Amino acid sequence: MIQIDKEYLASAFMRYVKIDTQSDPESNSSPTTEKQKDLSKLLAGELNDLGFENIEPDQYGYVYARLKSNSNKNVPAIAFCAHVDTAPDCSGTNVKPILHRNISGDDIILPDDTSQVLNVSNSPYLKNHIGKDIITASGLTLLGADDKSGVAAIMAAVKFLKANPQLKHGDISIVFTVDEEVGKGTDKISMEKINAEYGYTLDGGEAGSLEEETFSADGAIIEISGVIAHPGYAKNKLVNSMKIAGAFLDALPKNEWSPETTDKKEGFIHPTSINGISENTRLTFIIRDFKTENLEKHHEKLEGILKTVVAKFPGAKYKYTKQEQYRNMKDVLVKYPDVVKYAAEAIRRTGLEVHTESIRGGTDGSRLSFMGLPCPNIFTGMQNIHSKLEWIGVDDMAKAAETIVHLSMIWEENS
Ligand SMILES: [Zn+2]
Repeated sequence: MIQIDKEYLASAFMRYVKIDTQSDPESNSSPTTEKQKDLSKLLAGELNDLGFENIEPDQYGYVYARLKSNSNKNVPAIAFCAHVDTAPDCSGTNVKPILHRNISGDDIILPDDTSQVLNVSNSPYLKNHIGKDIITASGLTLLGADDKSGVAAIMAAVKFLKANPQLKHGDISIVFTVDEEVGKGTDKISMEKINAEYGYTLDGGEAGSLEEETFSADGAIIEISGVIAHPGYAKNKLVNSMKIAGAFLDALPKNEWSPETTDKKEGFIHPTSINGISENTRLTFIIRDFKTENLEKHHEKLEGILKTVVAKFPGAKYKYTKQEQYRNMKDVLVKYPDVVKYAAEAIRRTGLEVHTESIRGGTDGSRLSFMGLPCPNIFTGMQNIHSKLEWIGVDDMAKAAETIVHLSMIWEENS
């Protein structure tokens, strides 16, 4: 029987969310905000207190630690990863976590902004937590369950494994990353320091969910050049690149092929920025599909529309540049079926049903999978992420920690 200490877990989580670790998409430094290191330092200190030796964040704010194998079998090393940063979409300064014990299912009004009300109609998953404990912020900030719940679950699991040496496991690599929310979570990561064969991120939603598939992602940069002339003497000469860009955007399909008109397994293209003057206009697009081979078709279709529009403006030119961003982790995971199979088994052993899901986005795990660490994503229970109504059930976090413990044991059993 795996009994995770829920009081430790809840108090550790609340300690972590009080530290402001918001990342910054505009920054070019690593980490993008120095304050992320505040939590990294605290975690390194707590790992030292748990008996790990000489743990310190590296210069970029990553924390690596290793729980040594206690098995005489040859067990592959397994990494568990979570990110310390919070999303730039919502304030993460002065987060005041509130532990609501034994919730009734009535409205939960957040005290620092009483217009922020959490209830079963705006968050139906609350129903699963009636009679249990949940944690919210106070109304002015996000909570940071994304992904400090993953951090807390990993800490609780390794604390449990350390206290129960009769449970056999191989080497366990603990990895806390920075800058996940701004897409730079693996930029300065050290695969040597992770030193594991397989990994799991703890960065998912509802209890029981297991994400083994992400989008494959490309970018496109489109540069349109017009023909410049003095506006007073421009008749039959001037071709304004911004007007071409406008005609191009207008020529894109209205009822399909965009984030706002697609869901589930459908791919899309999406303009993300436009900057220009009369002479040149630059647009950036993101291209998304679950099938990597479809990305090329999206590029062809997009460039085809562009070409047709630009051809209507004599003298105008364009340049179309493709950028690879990340790839569907499933392309890697299918080659190592045990990685997902054992995670599903671990979730079942906690008494939960497994929901395998596809993420319409990317994770650190998609990048890590292609860097040589096949890495699906496991739930922590986080809800309404990146918002003031973010919340998490303490039981869900405990189930996530329990899943880590079972998973460590399952890899040992099967070795
Ligand atoms: Zn996250």
